[in-house]
Amino acid sequence: MNTSASTPMFEKIALVGIGLIGSSMAHGARKFGLAGEIAGYARRKETRAAARKAGFADSLHEELDACVKDADLVVLASPVGSFAEIARQIEPHLARGAILTDVGSVKLAVIRDVGPHLPEGVHFVPGHPVAGTEQSGPMAGFAELFEGRWCILTPPAGTDGSAVEKLKHFWERLGSMVEIMDPAHHDLVLAITSHVPHLIAYNIVGTAADLETVTESEVIKFSAGGFRDFTRIAASDPTMWRDVFLNNREAVLEMLGRFNEDLSALQRAIRWGDGDELQNFFTRTRAIRRSIIEAGQDIEAPDFGRSKKDKDGN
Ligand code: NAP
Repeated sequence: MNTSASTPMFEKIALVGIGLIGSSMAHGARKFGLAGEIAGYARRKETRAAARKAGFADSLHEELDACVKDADLVVLASPVGSFAEIARQIEPHLARGAILTDVGSVKLAVIRDVGPHLPEGVHFVPGHPVAGTEQSGPMAGFAELFEGRWCILTPPAGTDGSAVEKLKHFWERLGSMVEIMDPAHHDLVLAITSHVPHLIAYNIVGTAADLETVTESEVIKFSAGGFRDFTRIAASDPTMWRDVFLNNREAVLEMLGRFNEDLSALQRAIRWGDGDELQNFFTRTRAIRRSIIEAGQDIEAPDFGRSKKDKDGN
């Protein structure tokens, strides 16, 4: 229970899904006194046991109805493909006046799947914290995950303005900057900034692993910085990412089309020995990296993890 003297923003937060994102929200809500009570739901006993050990929830449930009962904020924080069935099951148990939100990495499909299951008086404000690591599960969460990161809210037309404001304020208290966006635009932007890069990482690691003339031990032994960065991304949760690609098909295919065209242009420049073309292209992309660092969305990490290696003495 929250012990801070001031009234918390929500009396009860129900987290349907207590992996990296759900548990980080719980840690943050605790740290900043945003919840009177935090309830968590997970299907598996092991997940609930790990969450109990991590200690970020007041109660843990294997039944959805008990988790969401009397909650004034309900957060869907499981893989996107599970939302339709969860929304169907919790519909009769949502409290009037509650805010229902989600943290799914795609937005149009979530509105399609959850929208039909909204009881009268429940405010649905879809959201996506653009924050994460390649870790998953209830032990992976930490309160600072959202600090300095964007959270995108995509309320459908006609959504209650005060519910949107309240959720915006909640994310700001967790340290995020909040932007309100059209859901289709969200899916297009995230397709190129997150979804396609993950697909490329999965693909390049898969290609390297399948090479017949290079052994797996050589891939590991001689892994250069670039490849190692891809392996980190390609270690992300398979279920979550399967659901992202199944639920953002059009936008991902559109961006992949453009990616393939640009890749062909680079391929041609290499074939024709067109150094100017390569130099110009790489100069342009280098500037983008600089802008991201200047915007505080990443830090310079010039050592590709070598300092950690030195520290460990191997
Ligand atoms: P996670 O660490 O893998 O945790 C998933 C949670 O959902 C676990 O508690 C899991 O417990 C539960 N779960 C899994 N399948 C379920 C199902 N079919 N029905 C009900 N519960 C289920 O995942 P995460 O990284 O926190 O991601 C959660 C959501 O956040 C996803 O929708 C993802 O798109 C979004 N998101 C992720 C990131 C990221 O970088 N990871 C960033 C932004 C947004 P049980 O298996 O025991 O049920």
